[in-house]
Amino acid sequence: MDERFFKALQFAARRHTSQRRKGGKDVPYINHPIDVATQLVTVGGISDPAVLAAALLHDTVEDTDTTPQELEHEFGADVAALVAEVTDDDSLTSAERKLKQEVEAPTKSPRAKLIRLADKTCNVRDITNHPPPSWSIERRRAYFDWAGRVVAALGRVHPALEKDFAEALARAKQSVA
Ligand code: ZN
Repeated sequence: MDERFFKALQFAARRHTSQRRKGGKDVPYINHPIDVATQLVTVGGISDPAVLAAALLHDTVEDTDTTPQELEHEFGADVAALVAEVTDDDSLTSAERKLKQEVEAPTKSPRAKLIRLADKTCNVRDITNHPPPSWSIERRRAYFDWAGRVVAALGRVHPALEKDFAEALARAKQSVA
C-alpha cells in the first residue's frame, strides 16, 4: 500500500478530530472519509493511490482550515487537484452549492467522478441509517432526490459503484416513502 494512503488517513483524522457526523449518534467525522475510501476499494476495486488519498482528504478543505496549498505540499499536485474538484465553494449558499454540483458534475475528471459517486453513496446510506435528528422526512426526500440528480449528471463512471449507489438510493427512497 502506497504510503500516501496512511499519511492522508493520519492528516484527515487530525484535521477532522473535533468534528462529528450529523447523524446524531456522535459518530466521529473521520468515519465518513474512511467509508468513502473503503467503498472505492471494496466495491470499485480502485487501487489508484492518488484517488484513495484524495478520498480520505476530500472534506478537509471544505470542512476544516486546511488549504489547497497545504495539500499540494503534503500530497502533491495530483491529489490536491482531485480534492479541489470535489470541494464546494463556501462563498455560495447551500442551495447554490447544491445546484453547482449538479451542473458541473458532467465536467469533472473521471477520477473526481469516482470520489463524488462513492461520497454520495456513503452519504445516502448514512442519512438512511442514521437520519440527522433535525431533518424532516421532506428534507431527507429532497436530499435523496438531489443526490440522484448529481449521480445521474456524472454520466457513466463505474458500473459496480453505480449499481451500489442505485441500491442505496432505492433503499433510501423506501425509507421516506
Ligand atoms: Zn464527503
